[in-house]
Amino acid sequence: MDRIHLRDIAQAPIEALASRFHAQPDEYLEELKAELREVLTGMGGPRQREEFVLLQKLVQARGDLSPASLMRSHRTQLELLVAIKTGIQAFLHPDICVTQSALVEVFFHTRCRNMACHVQIPVDDCSCEVCSAKTGFCSSCMCLLCGKFDFDVNTCRWVGCDSCSHWTHTDCAMRARQITTGTSSKKKKGGGAAAAPEMIFRCRACGGTSELLGWARDVFRACSSDWDINELVRELDSLRRIFHGSEDQNGKKLHEKAHESLERLRSGTDVSVVLKEIHRLFQETEVEEADDSSEDKKVVEPQEACSRIAEVVKEAVSKMESVAAEKVVDVKRARLSLESCDREVEDKRRELTELQIERQRKRQQIEELETIIRLKQAEAEMFQQRADEARRDADDLQRIALAKSEKVEEEYASRYLKLRLNEAEAERRYLFEKIKLQEMSRTQNDPAQMVTMCKIQYLLNRSSSKRDATAMETSAPTP
Ligand SMILES: [Zn+2]
Ligand SMILES: [Zn+2]
Ligand SMILES: [Zn+2]
Ligand SMILES: [Zn+2]
Repeated sequence: MDRIHLRDIAQAPIEALASRFHAQPDEYLEELKAELREVLTGMGGPRQREEFVLLQKLVQARGDLSPASLMRSHRTQLELLVAIKTGIQAFLHPDICVTQSALVEVFFHTRCRNMACHVQIPVDDCSCEVCSAKTGFCSSCMCLLCGKFDFDVNTCRWVGCDSCSHWTHTDCAMRARQITTGTSSKKKKGGGAAAAPEMIFRCRACGGTSELLGWARDVFRACSSDWDINELVRELDSLRRIFHGSEDQNGKKLHEKAHESLERLRSGTDVSVVLKEIHRLFQETEVEEADDSSEDKKVVEPQEACSRIAEVVKEAVSKMESVAAEKVVDVKRARLSLESCDREVEDKRRELTELQIERQRKRQQIEELETIIRLKQAEAEMFQQRADEARRDADDLQRIALAKSEKVEEEYASRYLKLRLNEAEAERRYLFEKIKLQEMSRTQNDPAQMVTMCKIQYLLNRSSSKRDATAMETSAPTP
């Protein structure tokens, strides 16, 4: 099969690769997405993370991509490209319902990459420094400082600018020292008397400042009814840290109250009791602020300024409320996709643990086998040694046996010869006796025969002496 690699997606010309995509079966394309999802999780260790950084660099360095060329890409090819560029796995989800053109817009930073927000950017054609940088920043869901988005928008962990409605994480703002004591833009405009500076937030986008006590009050009024004890603890902790350096009375009171409420929650006081107290404090601070401003108005412009402030406050509150309602829907949508991602991550984690256990088990087995092999080797060496010894013994025994059998054979031969000698001797004696008898009977009649007999006797005597000599020779080597 014409295999497509992730690096091909990052590098190869769009149209040529699109036709290769069209030739692949759907299952193969799903496998390719799963492969990239795994790289994006980074769970495979530093090598995988390096691979992702490389892919992203390759995509970012390309000069051949345009909205028109991406519109001609294969759908899966485009999803993979967007996921590489944004680093967001959600674009690889099987149930993703985003049009091809919306994906192209996400790729070219004209649509928010947050699937739960997905608005056209820059929002309201904002021309602030951050939005006009066209780096994919979305002022309706992302933090001005870190560029990230999450699902905590209805909490004290996000603060909005009263002037430009851009959002910032309170933690990011505290780290960047953009939450300090000072005078908010509205108070400056109102030209109120020089009261003690309050806690304010300075917006990076427009440079405006927003007061924080009223903001905290609005967040608590709009959202605290849904909070459980853990959420309330988190919110109180944010308040405690935000109002820590307060110099004005109300800020100090709120800081103390947050601190005290945390203690009380820890010692078992009910969430509703603690909330009621906080709301009472917010109410008191509101009355005090109203008193202060009405005093101010006596000095400057009494009725009109007062109603203008009330209007602005009302407007801010209603804006907050409408944003809050929108955000709740967004959060729900985003939470669903997050949950499915979480589940996937959890599954992978479980698989990883199982694989680790399995690997551990195999390693133990290998170690056991190695020990057994070492034992067997030692045994084999021992047996080899014994076999060598036995072979040496056998050789010795064979040598001894050979020597013995040679001796036995020699003995046998000598005995046999002796026996034959005795037989020959007996024969010789018998013939000798016979000749003697014949000789005695015939000497009287035939002198010629007498001569023949003498010859035979001489011959017999000679052969007998020769045999004796041979017998002496054969028996000689026997000890
Ligand atoms: Zn902006
Ligand atoms: Zn957005
Ligand atoms: Zn942030
Ligand atoms: Zn602003």
